[in-house]
Amino acid sequence: MRIVEPTAAAIDEAARLLRAGGLVAFSTETVYGLGGDATNERAVAAIFDAKGRPMFNPLIAHVPDVREAQRFVQWSDAADRLAAKFWPGPLTFVLPRAERSPIALLATAGLDTVAIRAPSHPVAQALIRAAELPIAAPSANRSGAVSPTRAEHVAQSLGERVPLILDGGPCVVGLESTVLDLTGATPVLLRPGGATREAIEGVVGPIVLSEALPTGAAARSSPGQLASHYAPSRPVRLEATSVSPDEALLAFGAHPPAGARLTCNLSPTGDLAEAAANLFAQMRALDRPEISRIAVMPIPQTGLGLAINDRLRRAAADDGARGRS
Ligand code: AMP
Ligand code: MG
Repeated sequence: MRIVEPTAAAIDEAARLLRAGGLVAFSTETVYGLGGDATNERAVAAIFDAKGRPMFNPLIAHVPDVREAQRFVQWSDAADRLAAKFWPGPLTFVLPRAERSPIALLATAGLDTVAIRAPSHPVAQALIRAAELPIAAPSANRSGAVSPTRAEHVAQSLGERVPLILDGGPCVVGLESTVLDLTGATPVLLRPGGATREAIEGVVGPIVLSEALPTGAAARSSPGQLASHYAPSRPVRLEATSVSPDEALLAFGAHPPAGARLTCNLSPTGDLAEAAANLFAQMRALDRPEISRIAVMPIPQTGLGLAINDRLRRAAADDGARGRS
């Protein structure tokens, strides 16, 4: 496995690897992605295999722009208006599969919908354009673990499972994309992420949170939303207002409680964008054998706070998966 600067020659090499059915990890503005040709069933199978990802959890296809997206999905008016504001950027649309869409069935877990996004990171854009393919790219980490926001995180998590990592620096958003289901009359927020609910509603009016749907419906529309995900190896305690000496503290704001064994502050000034960008790297930094648990201060439930709290809840959930990844 090699970590390389994203020079023109490296992008070229990575594009050739992708066209040959291989996998490449690369930086995006959200988190590092593990990319493969989204039209190649074997390449997509290799992604699931490298991540240890359950096959029922579909992947997002990455394209350079709206024009390319329209080859793979049945585009819509709402998608058009949202793309004008958010693309390229951290907003994924779930739309019906286009007729004769070449996207691999495995990539969509057999669904008749496709999740699609145009990332804004220059390395991601250059790679997708050079490969001339839609790129399936989940986060470049073992399934269930904390997402990578630096090239070194990818190397630590996937090791020799990935041959090449294009190092485009730390991810500026630091959270996965927002996933919005546009197949019904009202858009449904399947996963909060780097594009805020408020900004989306500013374009298309009120949207529905998938949590508000009956359980079965939510499970059907967003199959990959497992309760335990983004989980460090140590237990996580939420809404902490005090800490004990055996705990690590993930703080937020100007007045963290004293007394933790280790402390990281997501944003001393209480800036949610800064907190999002720091979240996964700080969770990793605090995930140390000498602490008993990671205590996390309350984060406001507005703007990017919705996505930050979603990740923290999944980091705290324990369905028995902890320790496996
Ligand atoms: P990841 O690749 O880890 O960023 O996860 C992609 C997310 O998008 C998962 O939570 C999936 O459940 C969701 N997703 C992908 N494709 C679809 C689809 N066709 N319908 C609904 N949700 C999807
Ligand atoms: Mg992921």
